[in-house]
Amino acid sequence: MNEIISSNKHGKGRSCVITRRALFSSSHRYWLPELSAEENSKSFGKCSLMPGHGHNYKLIVSMTGELNQDGMVLNLSEVKHAIKEKISSQLDFACLNNVWPEFDISKTEGFLPTTEALTKVIWSRLESEIPLISLRLYENESLWADYLGNHMEGFLTIRKHFSAAHRLAREELSQTENERIYGKCARTHGHGHNYFVEITVRGKIDTRTGMICDLTSLEKIVEDYVIEPFDHSFLNKDIKYFQSCVPTAENIALYISDMLKEPIKSIGANLHRINLQESPNNAAIIYAENAQLDTLSINDSDS
Ligand SMILES: [Zn+2]
Ligand SMILES: [Zn+2]
Repeated sequence: MNEIISSNKHGKGRSCVITRRALFSSSHRYWLPELSAEENSKSFGKCSLMPGHGHNYKLIVSMTGELNQDGMVLNLSEVKHAIKEKISSQLDFACLNNVWPEFDISKTEGFLPTTEALTKVIWSRLESEIPLISLRLYENESLWADYLGNHMEGFLTIRKHFSAAHRLAREELSQTENERIYGKCARTHGHGHNYFVEITVRGKIDTRTGMICDLTSLEKIVEDYVIEPFDHSFLNKDIKYFQSCVPTAENIALYISDMLKEPIKSIGANLHRINLQESPNNAAIIYAENAQLDTLSINDSDS
């Protein structure tokens, strides 16, 4: 170990991923001229309303490279300057539909400035300046997109909440045995958690709507299959599956993944990941596809 340290003074030549955050506030409106007012309203809901609405966006730029003789991958002030010049100074307090030609929907090649489309366009404007490996853009704390520079492929995550009670015990075991395995969680009358579940879908960003899938449909699927049945329930009794399967965080996450996979497929996307946060101290993560999106666990202490 000492040899490695002395032969690589200041870490020179070793690789590292670094991140930089940028904030901007912008407005947008989802409206396509080829659709009627009714169709726009049906497709985009309140997002179609005049004159638009706004978000406080948070962008996390991940970069990689080898450390130089000064112990840095990149000079952070140069990174900061590039992001400001190319992105945040142009988008801050601007209307996204008007600010960049990619979002000019009067042209056939224009698309709507959704969060996922925005990550793709930001990538194209930063890639010549910065050695990017991923971008994450938060529209708010319950919706964000990830982009890895892979053509039209993007990732969209929504975050939902439910409160539920459970008891961890296997019915074939005695109370003493259950308490030995599950501790206080095996107590006979159960206990509750405020759960947060993140649902990440992967898919092709549509070249016109700018969307991986219809957000209203995705929200409805999650509501119908998970939030409505789970919220304010006693999982062991109210959810049939958990009458015979112990509702650990792992099993709840697996069940949610199994439930959502096909309905999400039916709206044209792929369920990529479920992250079930049972408490601030523990979570269970299921990768519903084989490939893992490692950058989804990027260090983002602000969120
Ligand atoms: Zn919006
Ligand atoms: Zn518990």
